[in-house]
Amino acid sequence: MLSARELNRLTDEQLLEMRFCDLSLSIEGTALEHRVAVLYDELEERGLRLKPHVWLSEEWFTPDDVPGFAIPFYLAHPRLSRLERKQMLEVEGGTKRECLRIMRHEAGHAIDNAFGLHTRRRYRELFGSFNSPYPDWYKPQPNSRDFVLHLPAWYAQAHPAEDFAETFAVWLRPGSGWRKRYSGWPALRKLKYVDELMEEISGKTPINKSLKRVEELPDIDITLLDHYHKKREHYAFKWPPDYDRALLRIFSSDHDRRSAPGAAGFLRRHRRELCHEVAEGTGAHHYAIDQMLSHMISRCQDLKLRVDPAQDRTWQRVLVSLTIQTMNGIHSGYHRIAL
Ligand SMILES: [Zn+2]
Repeated sequence: MLSARELNRLTDEQLLEMRFCDLSLSIEGTALEHRVAVLYDELEERGLRLKPHVWLSEEWFTPDDVPGFAIPFYLAHPRLSRLERKQMLEVEGGTKRECLRIMRHEAGHAIDNAFGLHTRRRYRELFGSFNSPYPDWYKPQPNSRDFVLHLPAWYAQAHPAEDFAETFAVWLRPGSGWRKRYSGWPALRKLKYVDELMEEISGKTPINKSLKRVEELPDIDITLLDHYHKKREHYAFKWPPDYDRALLRIFSSDHDRRSAPGAAGFLRRHRRELCHEVAEGTGAHHYAIDQMLSHMISRCQDLKLRVDPAQDRTWQRVLVSLTIQTMNGIHSGYHRIAL
């Protein structure tokens, strides 16, 4: 077992060789503890008598039938957050704002489980069947007004249980102004229902008081290396990429222009910035977008493409093209978050 302080001395390679069960981490005494307390305050302010219990695991998730949720290990130590960023190019829930956003969503699942809300007829009518199987992927409709917008990638459209959790999260967020924001949207019916439901259960003790923890760190014996291998596989787009046509529109294949800067170098220089812009705009994972950029860079090399010096909007064109490719990836089926 390693102490939290000893983690700082390990190289990335040494860290990746470690198994989760050998990491000695806890939520107590970290910034995470404070964030959980903020969530509890928000719930209490609404008169809800549920403080979902939390524990550390590989990812964010709320297990079936448990009124509490798991928080990813990398949020419990800055050294692990740095490793996460290096491996995945983003730290999901790394800022206080993002962390609370995800916790409100998980609290939605937790309250659903605590009071068995999904067994109600009206819940089924509005959100669909809680028990329908989770798809391996979903095809979101970005312009739909039947669903609230909270987590990235139109996540409310992934499953009825996610739709409920997302609606609850929007309802819970202080100052969300949901009545005005969703005025005229069919999704407003769901928000109003959540509002009535919470009014009804406010002050009541949960029916399900289980304190079960699932896949807690001491129970996980895989290494961090295996974990990241699996995670990258999960987030990468799986449709066959064909960027050549787009690249040939943006860059020049004119071999007389040997003095013009290479397209591959251009993409490499702007890689981080492009990746960030498209991730923010589409809600797709940074890693998935970076993978596409990496394919584009190697195609630019193969095709010996160059930046057209007469073209001063190359950056914008790459941005548009990458956004289109990302949306195609999302439409071909995409699962942004595990649960
Ligand atoms: Zn969820």
